[in-house]
Amino acid sequence: MLISDNIYYCKNCKKVVPSIEDLLFVEDGSNLSFCSEACIEKFYSPLIDYFAGKIEKKRKDLNIVDEAALEALENPTFVDRVLHKPDEIWRLENDLKEEIFTFISKVNHNGEDIHLMALCFVFNHTPSFVLALTATSNDYFVQDFQVGEEVESLEDYHREIEDNSILDPEDFELIELKKSKLLAEMMTHRKEFDIPFEDFSLYMDYLRPTIETYDELYEFKDEDGDEAFAYFKAFEKSGVSFFYIALCTRIEKGEQSLIVPIISFPTIDGDLSNSYKAGKLIDGNKLAH
Ligand SMILES: [Zn+2]
Repeated sequence: MLISDNIYYCKNCKKVVPSIEDLLFVEDGSNLSFCSEACIEKFYSPLIDYFAGKIEKKRKDLNIVDEAALEALENPTFVDRVLHKPDEIWRLENDLKEEIFTFISKVNHNGEDIHLMALCFVFNHTPSFVLALTATSNDYFVQDFQVGEEVESLEDYHREIEDNSILDPEDFELIELKKSKLLAEMMTHRKEFDIPFEDFSLYMDYLRPTIETYDELYEFKDEDGDEAFAYFKAFEKSGVSFFYIALCTRIEKGEQSLIVPIISFPTIDGDLSNSYKAGKLIDGNKLAH
């Protein structure tokens, strides 16, 4: 092997990794890349502190330091919505062409209309790293986040599944409903040591390979009595093994039968992974169309 072979390295710890596939990227159009989530977090933690400080200062000024709306951040459905199905997206670009996006979502929390705001980096049309996440019932505070240019075509930033024009609004409603239930259930069983919820978007690329070349697939009836599928695949990234799990439902559209992901997530917890192995183990060929 040549000494000066192409090398790839983590921009935080400077560790050299075997290939580009071993790197995690968080910003579109940037070569900043990392060997692990821990390194991403370390690298950006001063920026997280910076925004936390700005938010705290503004909250003091507005006298909303401990407002009730902040409880909404405990609700994974709300957090998922602001990150993946926001009502507004604002894009701020500096002279170095570095972008920070603000996602804003309006939700009803305990009978009150409140807003969730997330400052994120975006990679591959999906939020890749959350710099700040907060909630408020104060409209002036919301305005502080509406900076830069508003991105008009929200569709570009929605998940692939939302673009699937075969599905109609009722289907999406059904999907959202199932999603809330499954997310809440998964978050209650999730252990402290597991991959944090905020990092799930870094694993979105594993959804397709999990469904297309799964290790195991189970078929079962969900709580609503609908046909459901659980796909499992084991992966390794930077020496860390994890499972990627996709929980899907089948939606019939005329002649077509679609397998639609409801939630998908990584886990390093074998117990959590096993808890989804219910119903009938399906042979690899049965679902092939
Ligand atoms: Zn590193």
